[in-house]
Amino acid sequence: MTRLRFDDPDIYNAIAAEDKRQQETINLIASENYASRAILQAQGSSLTNKYAEGYPGKRYYGGCHNMDTIETIAIDRCKELFKAEHANVQPHSGAQANMGAYFALIKPGDTIMGMSLSHGGHLTHGAKANFTGKMYNVVAYGLDQETERIDYAAMEKLADESQPKIIVAGASAYPRVIDFERIRRICDKVGAKMMVDMAHIAGLVAAGVHPSPVPYADVVTSTTHKTLRGPRGGFVLCKADLAHAIDSAMFPGIQGGPLMHVLAGKAVAFREAATPEFGDYARQILANSKTLARELQKHGFRLVSGGTDNHLVLLDLTATGVNGKDAEEALGRCNIVVNRNTVPFVATQKATAPNGMRLGTPAVTTRGFGEAEMVRIAAWVHEVIKNFGNPEVEARIAAEVRTLTEKFPVPGITD
Ligand code: PLP
Repeated sequence: MTRLRFDDPDIYNAIAAEDKRQQETINLIASENYASRAILQAQGSSLTNKYAEGYPGKRYYGGCHNMDTIETIAIDRCKELFKAEHANVQPHSGAQANMGAYFALIKPGDTIMGMSLSHGGHLTHGAKANFTGKMYNVVAYGLDQETERIDYAAMEKLADESQPKIIVAGASAYPRVIDFERIRRICDKVGAKMMVDMAHIAGLVAAGVHPSPVPYADVVTSTTHKTLRGPRGGFVLCKADLAHAIDSAMFPGIQGGPLMHVLAGKAVAFREAATPEFGDYARQILANSKTLARELQKHGFRLVSGGTDNHLVLLDLTATGVNGKDAEEALGRCNIVVNRNTVPFVATQKATAPNGMRLGTPAVTTRGFGEAEMVRIAAWVHEVIKNFGNPEVEARIAAEVRTLTEKFPVPGITD
């Protein structure tokens, strides 16, 4: 980065400050991770200079032979990793992957069924403010109030009544395994296409520690930067008979030229995710998440659904009297980064200051945290909330966090 330091000190300094922030904080944002040095290098390469509209062998620009090599490798690795018949690796993001999938499968005005935002679904699964809420007739399914797990029986009843063209499975804040087989049966019963957005769990699926949606779904969409630990971006998997519809929806349907530097980073990530070390990593994510959940419960916290099967836990802070926004800010002052989250079925909470908090283990596991560190994190979360707003407690914990983070360099930044 010596060139950047010289040519644009403003941006260099901001990046250096961000490197420092990432090194000195404990990152519990469930949707974030640390990409490897190799991925960062691929992304920071000359590939950003190249237009490559089209697909390998069918480009609309000259000079694309190296782009063909890169995209073909990325496609092959992605298909192999997830055992899919077809892969499109061009989506600039998870939202773009979802838009491409909808555009390939349905028309404006059609009915879709997605998980309600307040129960853990993503904006692109039918939220009012999103294009999905504006373009489609949305019927939202959700959780069972007792178990706080997806209510499949209610989902089936709703599907019978509303006859959706697509049922979308997948979530941004759901700590439990999703029963893809069951959802496939519901789709078959009502003649709906099954779309799975596995953005959050893609790394767990790649490693085989969460059931794969690929054998069941017509279309699977994903991001590459969450548990999968790649660069920011998206991809779509589908059965061979939908390949043309997906590819043409993505380009020229909703995107122009693919971001070839990011696409190269995705190829590197798919290779990394196929290694035995990545399998160990994914198992450790789960072990850490379960330990974090258990320890938080020991401190008296209530967890939505009573625990976790995946990389995240959802804390219901209602009984503590501290809302998710205030808790997020207090932990932030201690160098622990989390995000506020709604708690299902609590009608009174504000969207900007909901009652819950989402904590995830993918990023901290990448930097080498194990179960001993989870025990410490749970204790810190407890202390911060119990002593909410106490500057002495916060200063002490901030110093303890600093000492811990020094022992665990962030890969990619420091290697
Ligand atoms: N799908 C799910 C389930 C997500 O959680 C997210 C992001 O958090 C997305 C899609 C959107 O991804 P992106 O931010 O890359 O558009």
